[in-house]
Amino acid sequence: MKTLQDYFADARTGGWAIGHFNFATADVLRAIVEGAQAGGAPCVMVGTSQGEAEFLGLRSAVALVRAIAEAADFPVFLNADHFKSFEACKGAIDAGYDTVLYDGASQPYEVNVIETQRVWQYAQTKRGSYMLEGELGYMKGSSEVQNKVHISPEDYTKPEQAADFVKRTGVDRCAVVFGNIHGVVTKQKEELDIGHLKNIIAALPAQAGAPGTYLVLHGASGLSDAQVKAAIAAGITNVHFNTELRVAYQQGLKDELASEPNQTTPYKLLAPAVAAVRELVEQKTRLFMGV
Ligand SMILES: [Zn+2]
Repeated sequence: MKTLQDYFADARTGGWAIGHFNFATADVLRAIVEGAQAGGAPCVMVGTSQGEAEFLGLRSAVALVRAIAEAADFPVFLNADHFKSFEACKGAIDAGYDTVLYDGASQPYEVNVIETQRVWQYAQTKRGSYMLEGELGYMKGSSEVQNKVHISPEDYTKPEQAADFVKRTGVDRCAVVFGNIHGVVTKQKEELDIGHLKNIIAALPAQAGAPGTYLVLHGASGLSDAQVKAAIAAGITNVHFNTELRVAYQQGLKDELASEPNQTTPYKLLAPAVAAVRELVEQKTRLFMGV
């Protein structure tokens, strides 16, 4: 069976990106897996934020992902998404998460480096050749629909700092900021700075005999397809897409509750919301695959 590292190497060679979608319930997880399969992806990454992991339980998330991947006969990799402390990452690594994003981006830079190194050490010792993601730059927004978010180039990931960060921490993937924000804004056009992304890539060292660090685009919700395509063409190999999925799920549920007010069977109430998630994941998967 191919590892997540193998799929990342394939994505880089093939010029496509692995989709990453969040879940906190089994119905959404299955919809994501089915959507990614229908969209023609060779694998999918699914993530839980710390909040989602608390809601579901770390071990339940691991067991669910394994069961659904096996039933679908499809590779599904579980990521601890934006876990903010060493302890939280340790919990995910111990529970069997396939990979972790330690997010120390809001900490002072040196603290981010030291804590990322700590997570890296622990993961390699405990699990061996474990894939780790770090984050650098000030990424604004939240997983919600907002009116406006102030985007400033000062918050972007600094290319020379990114080079220093990957050298010192050994991360395999790095979440970078170049105009992207979390969530969706309604009164503003979200615009990526592809030139800045290229500067970050140019500054990164290539690791001896192996490809350099993979760069991750977070906050793809609210971006036009053309913007996401341009980021992948420039070298992004992993795209996180979340808020629009939540919006689709919520809308599907609202519509169903309004049109069938006497319906009490959960799987019937949830079916349209699940279908909306599946459909959107399929669409986005085609975009990330470049088809
Ligand atoms: Zn994110």
